[in-house]
Amino acid sequence: MRFRLIPVFALMSAALAAVPAQAQDKGSVNPKPLPPLANPSDPNIAAKELFGRKLAPAALAPQAIGFYAKGCVAGAVALPINGSAWQVMRLSRNRNWGHPDLIALLERVAIKVQKTAGWPGLLVGDMSQPRGGPMFTGHASHQIGLDADIWLTPMPNRQLSREEREETSAVMMVRKDRLDIDPSTWTPTHLPVIRAAAQEPQVERIFVNAAIKKALCREAKGDRSWLSKVRPMYGHDYHFHIRMKCPPGSANCEAQTPPADGEGCSTGDLAYWFSDAVLHPKPPPVPPKPKPPLTLANLPSECRQVLQAPDAK
Ligand SMILES: [Zn+2]
Repeated sequence: MRFRLIPVFALMSAALAAVPAQAQDKGSVNPKPLPPLANPSDPNIAAKELFGRKLAPAALAPQAIGFYAKGCVAGAVALPINGSAWQVMRLSRNRNWGHPDLIALLERVAIKVQKTAGWPGLLVGDMSQPRGGPMFTGHASHQIGLDADIWLTPMPNRQLSREEREETSAVMMVRKDRLDIDPSTWTPTHLPVIRAAAQEPQVERIFVNAAIKKALCREAKGDRSWLSKVRPMYGHDYHFHIRMKCPPGSANCEAQTPPADGEGCSTGDLAYWFSDAVLHPKPPPVPPKPKPPLTLANLPSECRQVLQAPDAK
């Protein structure tokens, strides 16, 4: 799996949000299983090594535990890989898991998209691992079963094969100079898709590339209140990211400060994202020390029970 070079400030903000996730990265129909760990109880072992080896959810009541970028999920359920209005991509990653409220939300949004955008449905990318937690590749968040990446490519009007789900690439929506959307790929149907998600009361934030935010600000007619939830973020130029609020009944879920009220559409609001420092970041003179990976001790203590619980049937 390839990592993109990420500027330092992006790494710093990664604790709060998502690093670029790579919908365009291909998977394999026959992924190799991970070898067993020599000493799984070693306290210094990276939590991603433990959570990355769990192939089934914990047989516990549904709970989102901790923060989006530091936590886990109990009692997760899978989004069915074929729905009436969606299909799951990159099945080899086994990341189509989430809190049951996220599954219900995605199904609802997908059906709404058929009606309002005329898309046959949604292509769903990464959600969480069966027990959440940190991942080997791609995301800082997506740890508590409340985040989902949705492709900005409409679902085709037929069932995709296993191979296609691994090999098909998402489509780039941002122009080469990064200052606006690419008019050859961005269509009038993209706004109603993103709006369908943003208007859901349980949605906390939507992450899109700043060029996409700029286009939404320009194109939104009528009710524009949903724009405040749509936040510019690094990456997110092939897909957008839905983040749900902490669901009722998840006492140990740590809420994120709600986004500011305004639409976030003024030149000033977007200036940072179109600044030279963000568009053309210079490598730091001294490469930063890589952050040590999260260990189990860095996560909420309940995540230990989530790891130890038997597999849900
Ligand atoms: Zn994302």
